[in-house]
Amino acid sequence: MVERKILIIYTGGTIGMVNDPETNSLIPFDFENVSNHVPELRKFDFQIKSISFDPLIDSSDMNPSVWIRLVTMIEENYSSFDGFVVLHGTDTMAYTASALSFMLHNLQKPVILTGSQLPLGTIRTDGKENLITALEIAAAQKNDQALVPEVCIYFQDKLFRGNRTTKYNAEHFHAFRSDNYPPLAEVGIHIKYNYPYIRYTTLNGTFRVAKQMSTNIALLKMFPGINLDVVNAVLNAPNIRAVVLETYGSGNAPTAPWFLDAIKSAIDRGVIILNVTQCLAGSVEMWRYETGIHLLEIGVVSGYDMTIETAVTKLMYLLSNSASDEEIRNNLNKSLRGEINI
Ligand code: ASP
Repeated sequence: MVERKILIIYTGGTIGMVNDPETNSLIPFDFENVSNHVPELRKFDFQIKSISFDPLIDSSDMNPSVWIRLVTMIEENYSSFDGFVVLHGTDTMAYTASALSFMLHNLQKPVILTGSQLPLGTIRTDGKENLITALEIAAAQKNDQALVPEVCIYFQDKLFRGNRTTKYNAEHFHAFRSDNYPPLAEVGIHIKYNYPYIRYTTLNGTFRVAKQMSTNIALLKMFPGINLDVVNAVLNAPNIRAVVLETYGSGNAPTAPWFLDAIKSAIDRGVIILNVTQCLAGSVEMWRYETGIHLLEIGVVSGYDMTIETAVTKLMYLLSNSASDEEIRNNLNKSLRGEINI
């Protein structure tokens, strides 16, 4: 059997920090020597290599040009490795996982994102277990095929589909959830893979990466009392091509004529308005209430049960990688990478 190889890409974030004995503060360590900090890695029966971003970035500074750098690193190493573990700050990890799921076409190998709430260099760190299990999942194969050929987030004891995941807790080790899709694996004594929910693509196309992501989008979050100036400021921002409308419940928004007129005039100008619920679980069903039907009638597009992170990144991807607005609208109504139930 050929020895499997996994590449760790360290982008930055809490996980890669250790205590500097001289200053007693946390500093990033050199991931080339990761096994000095996590000696357990030497026991794996596969090879581990690592590369780091330079400079390292706190994930609050994440942006599409960094995603392009990341997918380019994966592209350059794709044929030499069996799987990838991306170490990333937790703050925007769900955005990066969602973006990667769209940018990596015909992915047949695992890309597992993980990080930690406490640095690897602290005694109670959650980073060690997250890193070790993420590596094990990235290397897991049956008949030379990856068990999970998807972009995922592994955190604490669950493996989630990346584009279904949201960070919801800034304190607990269980920092992420995926309310609209079951975990792809649950980890206890054994790693129990949830095979029926893992996406095994039948496409035999070659792996390639998208290297353009539009930033001409905005979020407009509904709240009781929102006023026309705020709505107009967002809808009329220069060069805006799509807006994620964060609605209530099953996709409901105010019925006031000034609001509907503002949305309709944006749609008439060619702006795509994507309706995503503020709720963590459940789906947009605009036909359910009168407050949603108005949106449907004026041409608002349903975001189904998409996370906000996926709505943002799917639009960024589609705006830059589609031949026409019609193609964008068609693809919003399709599950491209398992991101919506339809
Ligand atoms: N602010 C850090 C980041 O997201 C927090 C973390 O690493 O979890 O990069």
